Amino acid sequence: MTATTLAPERTVSELIALEEQYGAHNYHPLDVVIERASGAWVFDVDGRRYLDFLAAYSAVNQGHCHPAILQALVEQAQKVTLTSRAFRNDQLPLLYRDLHELTGFEMALPMNSGAEAVETALKAARKWGETVKGIPTNQSEIIVASGNFHGRTIAIVGFSSDAQYRSGFGPFAPGFREVAFGDISALEQAITPHTTAFLVEPIQGEAGILLPPAGYLAAAADLCRKHNVLLIVDEIQSGLGRTGKLFAFEHEGIHPDVAIIGKALSGGFYPVSAVLSSREILGVFHPGDHGSTFGGNPLACAVARAALRVLVDENLVARSAQLGAYALERLQHIQSAKVKEIRGKGLWIAIELNQPARPICEALQHRGVLCKETHSTVIRIAPPLVIGREDLDWGLEQIEAVLTA
Ligand SMILES: *Cc1c(COP(=O)(O)O)cnc(C)c1O
Repeated sequence: MTATTLAPERTVSELIALEEQYGAHNYHPLDVVIERASGAWVFDVDGRRYLDFLAAYSAVNQGHCHPAILQALVEQAQKVTLTSRAFRNDQLPLLYRDLHELTGFEMALPMNSGAEAVETALKAARKWGETVKGIPTNQSEIIVASGNFHGRTIAIVGFSSDAQYRSGFGPFAPGFREVAFGDISALEQAITPHTTAFLVEPIQGEAGILLPPAGYLAAAADLCRKHNVLLIVDEIQSGLGRTGKLFAFEHEGIHPDVAIIGKALSGGFYPVSAVLSSREILGVFHPGDHGSTFGGNPLACAVARAALRVLVDENLVARSAQLGAYALERLQHIQSAKVKEIRGKGLWIAIELNQPARPICEALQHRGVLCKETHSTVIRIAPPLVIGREDLDWGLEQIEAVLTA
């Protein structure tokens, strides 16, 4: 590499050209090049500011660059960042305690990305199935829901119902069965003596913020209990305040066997995820059964502890419920032939359109609001939960203007 190739490239078009030339094209981002961010706002390389209505798919529920989380990151980074789990560190036990006290789950297993935590939950469930429930070796069946999104590993995309997520990536791991999301009798019919677990998002985010019929999760929990099947709830996007409860499953008054969290667990600073469960289920893991070099590292734990503290100290769960109900009502009053349906829970709202969503997202970008389409006709509204009421109002006005133009 020569000195000239290391020269700073600053213009938007140069940066985009570099990304297109040297990076794999596995995303189709809006052409806004963000340089810094604070709270609910992001700033591009030309200094233009945008209201962030995506919040990194709910990873920055606490707002961008939250000062308390930043301080925890810097302080911990000056002490020790990674020990590996070959040795103990002084932050992991405190994260375990904080997670237990906040969520009530007996135990946790820390990982990094969401997909890894899902894989971890599936491994725990299969091992529980064989060693506790008594399912014969390699006969375990795990039920998943149509339209699911649980990440991008080969095992996970293998049970996706999205053809693009699977196409070209086979062969896939066996042992998964799909049932229609929201259909309790389909779940009941799919359960066999070999069923280990039912893995489900309480509200399907990537599918377009799809809410199952009221009572579905509670009925699923009853069915699972009756058949000794583990209920695994993927709260990676719906959890940690996004829907106006700490966990979306609380809307149905249930307590699942396993909950998977990620994204906002670090407030966007660092990849941190965790599987929350009981002593009986996580107790199936013995030394050497599972692991991760970075999982449970002291930097991740310090950041996650600070991120959880911000959720509590700033009442972000209640804030999501209040601002979300307000925003939903305002959006539902918009009269526009472009709109098919507006639905949501907490500060997690879908605008389903009668037309492609991408041009609407681009029009919003020009007005200073960043949203991203999901499944071509849905716009997801998910600002950081710290957003101010006036900023929220301003963003909703831009949406109204674009939808009624
Ligand atoms: C984002 C997400 C994942 C995957 O998380 P990664 O950190 O991207 O691996 C899994 N499940 C749900 C519901 C998600 O929203």
